[in-house]
Amino acid sequence: MPLINVTLPDGTVNEYASGITCAEVITDALGRKHGCLAARVDGDECDMSTPLEQNCSVEGILSTSDEGIHILRHSAAHLLAQAVTALYPGAKPTIGPAIDRGFYYDFAMEAITESDLKPIQKKMQELARKNFTVERVELSESELQDHFADNPYKLEIINDKIEDGGGSTIYKQDEWYDLCLGPHVPNTSRLMHVKLTSVSSAYWRGDQDREQLVRIYGIVEPSKEALRATLTRLEEAKKRDHRKLGKDLKLFHIDEEVGQGLILWTPRGAVIRQELQDFISFHLRRQGYSQVFTPHVGKLDLYRTSGHFPYYQDSQYPPLVERDLMKKLADEGCTCGELSNLMKLGDIDGYMLKPMNCPHHVKIYASQQRSYRDLPLRLAEFGTVYRWEQSGEISGLTRVRGFTQDDAHLFVTEDQIAQEVLGCIELVQIIFEKLGMTDYRVRVGLRDADSDKYVGESEGWDKAEEACRAAAQSLGVNWSEEQGEAAFYGPKIDFVVKDVIGREWQLGTVQVDYNLPERFGLEYKGSDGEIHRPVMIHRAPFGSMERFCGVLIEHFAGKFPTWLTPTQVHIITISEKHKAYASEVAEALKAHEIRVLVDDGDDTVGKKIRNHRKLQPAYMVIVGDGETEGRTVSLRARNGDQISGMGLDDFIVAIREEIDTKVAQPSLVVVEPEE
Ligand SMILES: [Zn+2]
Ligand SMILES: [Zn+2]
Repeated sequence: MPLINVTLPDGTVNEYASGITCAEVITDALGRKHGCLAARVDGDECDMSTPLEQNCSVEGILSTSDEGIHILRHSAAHLLAQAVTALYPGAKPTIGPAIDRGFYYDFAMEAITESDLKPIQKKMQELARKNFTVERVELSESELQDHFADNPYKLEIINDKIEDGGGSTIYKQDEWYDLCLGPHVPNTSRLMHVKLTSVSSAYWRGDQDREQLVRIYGIVEPSKEALRATLTRLEEAKKRDHRKLGKDLKLFHIDEEVGQGLILWTPRGAVIRQELQDFISFHLRRQGYSQVFTPHVGKLDLYRTSGHFPYYQDSQYPPLVERDLMKKLADEGCTCGELSNLMKLGDIDGYMLKPMNCPHHVKIYASQQRSYRDLPLRLAEFGTVYRWEQSGEISGLTRVRGFTQDDAHLFVTEDQIAQEVLGCIELVQIIFEKLGMTDYRVRVGLRDADSDKYVGESEGWDKAEEACRAAAQSLGVNWSEEQGEAAFYGPKIDFVVKDVIGREWQLGTVQVDYNLPERFGLEYKGSDGEIHRPVMIHRAPFGSMERFCGVLIEHFAGKFPTWLTPTQVHIITISEKHKAYASEVAEALKAHEIRVLVDDGDDTVGKKIRNHRKLQPAYMVIVGDGETEGRTVSLRARNGDQISGMGLDDFIVAIREEIDTKVAQPSLVVVEPEE
């Protein structure tokens, strides 16, 4: 039998008989308890049972790695389909992918409800326990058609995806099989720790004109402990859901009559947004930014030049056409289709709700002759932009159709890129630190060396990429380079924040751009007297105010630091007698720009406290006889801890200090533990 050389991750090269499987190699290298559920052969994922027939490198995929968990989820989707078809013989499995937090499978079947999930889950566990081997079988197109003869959905996939005369693979466990490219876990016992979470409906191929299907969602983890931790996390995530908390805390409102995905910031939510805006504006001034304001619309021609129209028109609101022109076209019997065509060709003009702030800022740059002495020019605007998200995608504050970016554009010379990227990064860092988002990683998107889709000179790119790398490095946090992830117009830096319950959110970005200056023919006069082209940097540390606030609500579970809390102090009277002092306290706080609300109503103190807790003030101040006489306050913290007899003036100084220094959480109530 011929021998092959297999290279292991640590660089060791072992000699084996050809035909040895990945599982055997990994067991040989790592022992029986290797914990791998699939393998990578020369970089490609494959099953543990894959035989090796030539020299190659082999690496195990652990169930705890990103790839491993993906394979586990996809395998659990198969198990779900096996269980559903066992319990509902008429059900036709369609597709069942792994997704971000678990998996789902879509079935053509009678409608089911949440209460039907339990027996299905039980069946899955029963099948998992039987420890069926998961086997890969290669079949020709006609064999595939025979195997799936009674499933029109699979037949449709086979007919669409497989070239004539070609073939594909199925994965088989016991008598059940699915059309699939794999890889999968070696046996079903890996899938014991599974939980079905919900059922909903979906359309075949996401097309509303096609069949309606039943979608079952689930999660799976490699161990019992991991499953329990995930379930706890989901429970916690539910409690923190910003859509729910936004309503409870009265932070924002969405009204169908105004429009889906269009946020109405109520007074309490507006406070948070304004505080964040003030905070960032302070640092912008410090860094030498200039504030600008630009309108919410621009002419189509502007976006033709920038490249946003017509290419991205599907993700934008439809253009606005001038009234006279509209009337004339209507009189001529122009159809909507013709109108859209004329706009695309540039034969008629109109306006667009702005999808981006950049073209407007570019025009401010271009409004005067620029010299190297003007650079870097940093233009900042909290600019509202509009995007047409599909209605199915819209959700709370995080997927919306209108949002305000904490946007800025820096016009710089090539030599200034490094310094300015660093400045952008510093800003992001300050924000994250103040908000206690200390667990984040950074992705640097670089170009794909083999592609020629990029605009700009290669030396320029080298410099810009180096600048991004160096900036990311300077943060002292986890960062990764991602080849091929740059936009065609320049490299970028993305920030991915992990919240307290372990979810990742992509927030701010910094993006170098060689393209827009080119498209708009931007220039500056250099110190050499020659005309040069500036480079642009787009950056938005929060990304969008809406999305960022949504993330913040969940991050803090609605318990904001004092400086961000909409009403910082709620004053509660014990009885009628204390009204006058309560209003005196309120006036004193207001005079120091502390946000106050007074409840001197007739409810009992207990009831008032319960009511006000829902709004999560930083402190409740309770005033009764003792406080009135001594000009003191009793403070109640969010957790119910209470201290009494704090002098009113001392309280004002202390809370003002807490606000001004942006302390992470209200901390004026300190109760000494009793001995
Ligand atoms: Zn599959
Ligand atoms: Zn921009």
